[in-house]
Amino acid sequence: MQDNFGRHIDYLRVSVTDRCDFRCFYCMPKNMTFLPRSKLLSFEELDQVCSTFVDRGVTKIRLTGGEPLLRRGIMDFIKGFSRHLESGALHELTLTTNGSQLAKHAHDLKACGINRINVSLDTLDAEKFSTITRGGHLPQVLAGLDAAVKAGLSIKINTVALKSFNENELSALVGWCGDRGFDLTLIETMPLGDIGGDRTEHYLALDDVKVSLQSDWDLTPSPHTTNGPSRYMDVTATGQRLGFITPLSEHFCDTCNRMRLTCTGTLFMCLGQDSSVNLRDALRADQSLRLLNGAIDEAITLKPKGHEFSIGDNDDKPTLKRHMNVTGG
Ligand code: SAM
Ligand code: SF4
Repeated sequence: MQDNFGRHIDYLRVSVTDRCDFRCFYCMPKNMTFLPRSKLLSFEELDQVCSTFVDRGVTKIRLTGGEPLLRRGIMDFIKGFSRHLESGALHELTLTTNGSQLAKHAHDLKACGINRINVSLDTLDAEKFSTITRGGHLPQVLAGLDAAVKAGLSIKINTVALKSFNENELSALVGWCGDRGFDLTLIETMPLGDIGGDRTEHYLALDDVKVSLQSDWDLTPSPHTTNGPSRYMDVTATGQRLGFITPLSEHFCDTCNRMRLTCTGTLFMCLGQDSSVNLRDALRADQSLRLLNGAIDEAITLKPKGHEFSIGDNDDKPTLKRHMNVTGG
């Protein structure tokens, strides 16, 4: 699949649920309203849609959410869908998780052919962790990480860099990840969805973070790329990779190869734009998948050249109304 700007689209991110056991303050408000379960694509429908994408050349799928491991039946879905890995049509099936359910599922994930996962972790201080997630338990996530290491999963930690919150911990986190053989990616807060507060309060430009980390660590630009928003450095002392996702201070759209499917079957062609196509209706209207394929064709033509994120001086209004857990981070 190729879009109007010549970009080859072969990566699908799928939010399998908007629900979550955490309420990270930069992601959603405390009293977040979740979708009624009846609105979700069934696992059978999800399999049909994702398999259609694989047939059309998608080689990488990332499951996300909400918290993907919270959806009941997710492991059976993954087991079934891993047939595309076995056939070789799908090169990678992976997952972004908050880690709370990893202790339970790490072993089975590896057995399904998942080799690498991203685990979100913004602080190593249990009290701060509880504050940021509004009630999450750090030891539960650390136990999940231990189980993932034991299962043989490669791990990348995702950390949202937050001014006056974890900015003083980031250098230590580079060392902590290095000691455990984890890569680390730092993320700028993105203005997605109303969070019931002002985002600018915690916005931290990663350009400044990079300069400050360079005083503690020898960082050299890495040739590694995923055609995505991350720009990588190698940490000489640890041999691990350090990524920077900077949607606000630096555009990353020229090589974007991804689409995002919500748990209700809406396909967004850009995290930072509203253009979308309803695949659920197309699927339900025509079991032959003709309408579904037509809707995907239409979606590809809608992929915008770039996103429109911005953060103003006193910005408590999001650029987009959708929360990150709906589109999938
Ligand atoms: N619940 C899972 C998790 O936290 O890993 C998967 C979904 S979560 C929406 C995916 C990623 O998006 C997480 O790494 C999270 O930190 C990040 N995220 C959520 N809201 C964000 C925002 N407004 N700006 C930047 N990153 C955000
Ligand atoms: Fe849940 Fe992930 Fe959003 Fe945190 S970032 S509230 S863990 S979906």
